[in-house]
Amino acid sequence: MSSESLFSKLTAHAKEYGYIFQSSEIYDGLSAVYDYGQYGAQLKKNIRDAWWKSMTQLHDNIVGIDAAIFMHPTTWKASGHVDNFSDPMIDNKDSKKRYRVDHLIEAHAATLSAEDGKQLIEAMEALLAKDDYQGILSLINEHKIKCGISGTCNWTEVRQFNLMFQTEFGAVASDNQDDNIVYLRPETAQGIFVNFLNVQKTGRMKIPFGIAQTGKAFRNEIVARQFIFRMREFEQMEMQFFVRPGTELEWYAYWKENRMKWHQALGIPAEKLRYHDHAKLAHYANAALDIEFEFPFGWKELEGIHSRTNYDLSRHQEFSKKKIQYFDNDLNPEGKPYGNYVPYVVETSVGLDRLVLTILSLAFKEEEVPTAEEGKTDIRTYLSIPAAIAPVKAAILPLVKKEGLPEIANSITTELRKHFHCQYDEKDSIGKRYRRQDAIGTPFCITVDHQSKEDEMVTVRHRDSLIQERIPIKGLTQYLQKAIQG
Ligand code: ATP
Repeated sequence: MSSESLFSKLTAHAKEYGYIFQSSEIYDGLSAVYDYGQYGAQLKKNIRDAWWKSMTQLHDNIVGIDAAIFMHPTTWKASGHVDNFSDPMIDNKDSKKRYRVDHLIEAHAATLSAEDGKQLIEAMEALLAKDDYQGILSLINEHKIKCGISGTCNWTEVRQFNLMFQTEFGAVASDNQDDNIVYLRPETAQGIFVNFLNVQKTGRMKIPFGIAQTGKAFRNEIVARQFIFRMREFEQMEMQFFVRPGTELEWYAYWKENRMKWHQALGIPAEKLRYHDHAKLAHYANAALDIEFEFPFGWKELEGIHSRTNYDLSRHQEFSKKKIQYFDNDLNPEGKPYGNYVPYVVETSVGLDRLVLTILSLAFKEEEVPTAEEGKTDIRTYLSIPAAIAPVKAAILPLVKKEGLPEIANSITTELRKHFHCQYDEKDSIGKRYRRQDAIGTPFCITVDHQSKEDEMVTVRHRDSLIQERIPIKGLTQYLQKAIQG
């Protein structure tokens, strides 16, 4: 299956089987906004829970918080988002279509020979690094880059476009409109920074320690495409790890490795993941990289790991005029306490929706299987989602809807439900029921047949290998627990 065909089949499958719907679809949808259906929401929750557990339960020095989406507007001045959180854009005057200049130029570079394409990208990066927008416009004109819709080169100037959504707060209008403006947070990290002292003091946290948070973030992405890869409303899972100045690069190395292992433990093969060091660092960062995944449309960022020095806390200290410092009474090599300082920060920031897309794109499989009719084959479509995060763990299926089999299957379901998400299904032929469970990625189908009445055993069918085993009903919970943990 080509990558393109995999991607379009996957998006159709995600909709057809209750994973992901376009938002407000009955009104023709809202661009780059998606809703998770019954299986998608559960898959997303399972991934979020795995992340939360790895951070807050498996590390004794990381705690989790849940900060509000709305924050005092000064937060975003301090963080630099009001002034700098923007992308350079250009509009085509004929089609009125707006493009992110890097996307426009990259798309053109992809049509050139490898060497010419590389040169063009390098020229673009050099100009963007200097914020030379006149130079960018000249580059676009020189290469006669056309709008995909109008086919013309009739471009506006290059302009900066801030990605933050803003809205008004409260019912009372103020004379100064700016007083009422609040932003929908474009990242969850700032909710952690502004709570640094609250958490450190109330939790008596000792450096090094981390604060983790998951939650919605909003960005008015101009070029929103590739399904749930780039959305205007999405969910982040971020952890800020506060460390003693001078130790940040050791911690950066620790988190770089830890996060790569976590993705692999989730079931992502090592060869589909790679590090990508940032060539150009933000002025406050002293190291930064992305963990990239090979999506069906190429290698793209899944998670960012950044050593952000003490920039964020210092800026909040400056803008709030409140002291944000930590007293470190550990002894330095000279035998004196390290004393007061603004901690340094290593951040790990992963997009939950991008992880869902990663898991689904790895899971989507089509396979030719023989049918009952001799010499004929059929296509079996299934999602090989790792059992530990699959939305439904087991389906319990009486072979027929009579002769006492539904009763046995129901009592098994009642027992298993206490431990796992299960489905009971007695409708249609057993083959059709298997296919339905394959399509939503249920790792185990448990079939109750006539023999079960005699030997108190059932058949467990494995989704990926199609292996079938006879297992005693009594031992099913334990059997599944073990199989799910892998
Ligand atoms: P990109 O370069 O792809 O726009 P970014 O570098 O702006 O991403 P960060 O600000 O580092 O992203 O955000 C951390 C993580 O949040 C990203 O690694 C990604 O997984 C996720 N993320 C960022 N923007 C979006 C979006 N529009 N839709 C979905 N996930 C996103």
